[in-house]
Amino acid sequence: MILHDSFDINEKGRLTVAGYDAVELAGRFGTPAFIIDEGKIRSVCREYRSAFSEFFGGGSRPVYAGKALCFTGLYRVMREEGMAADCVSSGEIATALKAGFPMENVFFHGNNKTDDDIRYAIASGVGYFVADGEEELYAVDREAKAAGVKQKILLRITPGIDPHTHKKIITGNVDSKFGSAIATGRAAEVTALALSLDNIELSGFHCHIGSQIFEPDPFCDAASIMMRFIAEMKKAHGYTASILNLGGGFGVRYTEDDPEISYRDNIKTIAEVIKDSAKRYMIDQPDVLMEPGRSIVAAAGATLYTVGSVKEIPGFRNYVSIDGGMTDNPRYTLYGSKYTVVNASRASLPADFEITLAGRCCESGDLIAEGVRIAKPERGDIVAVLVTGAYNYSMASNYNRVPRPPVIMIGEDGPRVAVRRETREDITALDE
Ligand SMILES: *Cc1c(COP(=O)(O)O)cnc(C)c1O
Repeated sequence: MILHDSFDINEKGRLTVAGYDAVELAGRFGTPAFIIDEGKIRSVCREYRSAFSEFFGGGSRPVYAGKALCFTGLYRVMREEGMAADCVSSGEIATALKAGFPMENVFFHGNNKTDDDIRYAIASGVGYFVADGEEELYAVDREAKAAGVKQKILLRITPGIDPHTHKKIITGNVDSKFGSAIATGRAAEVTALALSLDNIELSGFHCHIGSQIFEPDPFCDAASIMMRFIAEMKKAHGYTASILNLGGGFGVRYTEDDPEISYRDNIKTIAEVIKDSAKRYMIDQPDVLMEPGRSIVAAAGATLYTVGSVKEIPGFRNYVSIDGGMTDNPRYTLYGSKYTVVNASRASLPADFEITLAGRCCESGDLIAEGVRIAKPERGDIVAVLVTGAYNYSMASNYNRVPRPPVIMIGEDGPRVAVRRETREDITALDE
């Protein structure tokens, strides 16, 4: 096993993904390609679901955050696993619809939903809007009235937690484009507004404190602040929230330096805080939702590339250029995210050659990893970047008019194309 149970080395000394030889997968489906272990995704969903019913109980459930990885086949898996889904755009809603996902279990996010988004979401029957603030409340109220429905919503609140993670992905601070802060009094004001609108039903509150968080403590802090807020709203308005959504953010092991994490143990710890707070503030325990994205899909994915060149620059570094790059994985360029890289063709040889893994965009910052060690490759070798299931395919672009790679899902019946490779025709298809 390498990092996660989806990755191993076979008797030929090659990397395997979900038991399949990565070099053979590359030969069959071409490179670059995203390989996704469907069984791994299903097992994490089951871990979340069973922990939620055991520790939170009632109608508590995990909500898969589709922005981590979104395509029709994946939403079918989420439907089969009984997950709810969080969508952040009309495109993600359209994907859920295409997958036959039960729309009453969809939570619609976003800090600036357009009138068109709002109409489309209501017409699609999404269960809940996670409303960002005043303007959205008025717009949803108006569109719900026009559609003749009462739209359920959660209000997005910023509890002011700094989860000590990467700055660009901190969203629970007071200084945030998302939601309304408790600390400034704004959260209480928008709650009063939501309760006053006729075509909106306020179901509860939402917060999201950040991402790639390994400890339960920031979630526990957020849970206790949110429970106190629920108690204050009960006192102020006689309103009892039935849902508390604590957002996403559990961490994933990308390299040997990251800790192992038990989602089950973390959920158990958070549940204790919720129970204690319910007692302390004398309120009923709401149904608890969380929105894992990364932790559901990241460890199930690997990206396969073919090596094109190995450029040794004495006294500096060794560039290994591959047939993909920031167009399929922009996370190193964006955040300096660290990855584990394996020479899939020579996985059992010592990883003693230090490299910079470079993409093929016209951009010297187009790198996937620096200072990592793999068995020395040559042109034609297959290199794998592990733990790329989250925020890789979903963040892929056509920069330099590079076609996006396919997504290959490995399920019970073996590997299948879940999203086909883009072609040069696809690249020019929208051009007039
Ligand atoms: C990004 C995001 C998530 C998912 O976060 P992960 O770190 O991938 O678990 C969940 N909810 C909201 C509101 C988000 O913005």
